[in-house]
Amino acid sequence: MSTWPELREAQRVILLDVLIHGSRSRAELARRSGLSRASLSRLTRELGDLGLVREAAAAPAEGRGRPSDTIQIVPEAAAFLGFKLTGDALYAAVVDLGGAVLHAEGEPLVTREVADVVAVIARTADRLRARFARVAAMGVCLAGDVRRDAGAGAVVVGSDFLGWHEVPIEQLVMRATGLPVAVSNDVQALTSAHHWFGAGVGASSLAVIGLGAGIGCGIVVGDHAVAGAKGHPGKVGHLPVGRGAARCDAGHAGCVSAYVTVAAILRNAGTASFWEALENARAGEPAAERAFRDAAEALGAVIAALVNLVDPERIIVTGEGLAVAELHPDVVELAVRSRLDPASEAPQVTLQPFAFTDYAWGAAVTAMTALV
Ligand SMILES: [Zn+2]
Repeated sequence: MSTWPELREAQRVILLDVLIHGSRSRAELARRSGLSRASLSRLTRELGDLGLVREAAAAPAEGRGRPSDTIQIVPEAAAFLGFKLTGDALYAAVVDLGGAVLHAEGEPLVTREVADVVAVIARTADRLRARFARVAAMGVCLAGDVRRDAGAGAVVVGSDFLGWHEVPIEQLVMRATGLPVAVSNDVQALTSAHHWFGAGVGASSLAVIGLGAGIGCGIVVGDHAVAGAKGHPGKVGHLPVGRGAARCDAGHAGCVSAYVTVAAILRNAGTASFWEALENARAGEPAAERAFRDAAEALGAVIAALVNLVDPERIIVTGEGLAVAELHPDVVELAVRSRLDPASEAPQVTLQPFAFTDYAWGAAVTAMTALV
């Protein structure tokens, strides 16, 4: 069972505002919520009684009157489990109510059979709940499309890496663990985590580009994650780059996936591992260098398309293929500038170092966002 208390809508609004911003002054909370001081005091007292927030006296700025009370999240009030599934591994993270990772781990996945994978998730969840108190909910994310069904909850429409089609994963994991379960696409989960707690804090519109086995993209507009009508937003993998004849697995000539994915880089560089391709490119070996330059150009094409369509405040590039952005920043920048609409401005691009457990962190944060 979840340890999360039932909250009224007004309590949720206040908690959400404090959660996303870490702490808030009473004056700011009153201004943003439109509530009277008396109502706000009652709500923060109720949330305090539930152990979710606490008051902290902020030091007054020099020469300015009395200190104003600040409401803060109590990080240890709840914990959330996050799981990321790849084709061959399960990563797990335990995250507190402040978004901090308390624990992270990974194990190889010996089978991709749905029942076996659900059993491994349930076993890991049980072990982590024995070790970490107050686990309120869990999230699961994977590279693939997730659709919300009125009856079946979140359903994995398709995941190439797992070979899954139409899997009602939310129901299966909920039945196996007894916890509320949030299921999402992995890059969308990571986008929510960066928006609330990571490199996207303070931006109300942003895009996160995840580079790796594929290329994924999560988009936030007006502080809301874009979910799409059918669960497939942010499909940037087959945008045209504009020149070149390399083909992606879908047969397009010169599309983003023909250059930017790990498999494309290996093919174009003629190597067996990403690290070998990277070493060769750094050493100036022509095929590898070309492969990374083409990948950087493809990344630039994606960034420009996002800016032209969405105009986000910030673009965060991350993932295990981040070296694509790091190796030739000049190529990325030129590729962006040459494709921007004349009225568009070059975006702020953050290169975010990546750990394999980041997606599990993202899944845990989606569990939190679904609950609050
Ligand atoms: Zn393609």
